Amino acid sequence: MNLSRSKRLLLEGMRGRIRESVLDAMSIVPRELFVPPQLRDRAYEDLPLPIGQGQTISAPHMVAIMCDLLDVRPGMRILEVGGGSGYHAAVLAVLAGPEGQVYSVERMPDLVAAARKNLKAAAIENVIVVEGDGSLGLPEHAPFDRISVAASAPRIPEPLKEQLGVGGKLILPVGGASQELVLVTRKNGFLVEEKMGVIFVPLIGKEGFGERQI
Ligand code: SAH
Repeated sequence: MNLSRSKRLLLEGMRGRIRESVLDAMSIVPRELFVPPQLRDRAYEDLPLPIGQGQTISAPHMVAIMCDLLDVRPGMRILEVGGGSGYHAAVLAVLAGPEGQVYSVERMPDLVAAARKNLKAAAIENVIVVEGDGSLGLPEHAPFDRISVAASAPRIPEPLKEQLGVGGKLILPVGGASQELVLVTRKNGFLVEEKMGVIFVPLIGKEGFGERQI
């Protein structure tokens, strides 16, 4: 099956469950440019795929669900933690539009380089990839309208809550062996909603599972 057909089928399968703006953004971003060359013909299978360093690019439906729950609008300032291949950041960047800005933090230098290269190849210009411990957020660029975390934290990191603007939303997996996708909305206080069971790689770092190597 060719890529454009498998992409169309993948996105059609999500129609009705995922808002159209997210499906439109995913139809614009070429996922095949964010997976290793030998896996390109599998880019539109709805699966996580290995991207090196023991890490994975999330399955398309998981990127879709997270972007849908996050309700990203044009012009927003967004923080992504766990940049990996850069694919999820690219979808967020299309949703945020040319007036919006995405900061994507990744701790592994090889993946930082790969994400920058992939985003350039996909002609996505409004993502800044930062190397570092994203469990601490990026205080110098806060507040953020939206924060999306692609690795599972032992608990909701306080710095990420603090870096949300009022009305802001944070989506992240929380847990170890058993994980829940959690949506946090900042109003007067913080509204915390558990959405569904998920499986992500662990968030390493100070507010994650420590500095051990995986
Ligand atoms: N969003 C990515 C998915 C990457 S998987 C994509 O679209 O491809 C999760 C990523 O989180 C891994 O690359 C891992 O190295 C990274 N990660 C784990 N702990 C981190 C931390 N404390 N700071 C930044 N990145 C982290």
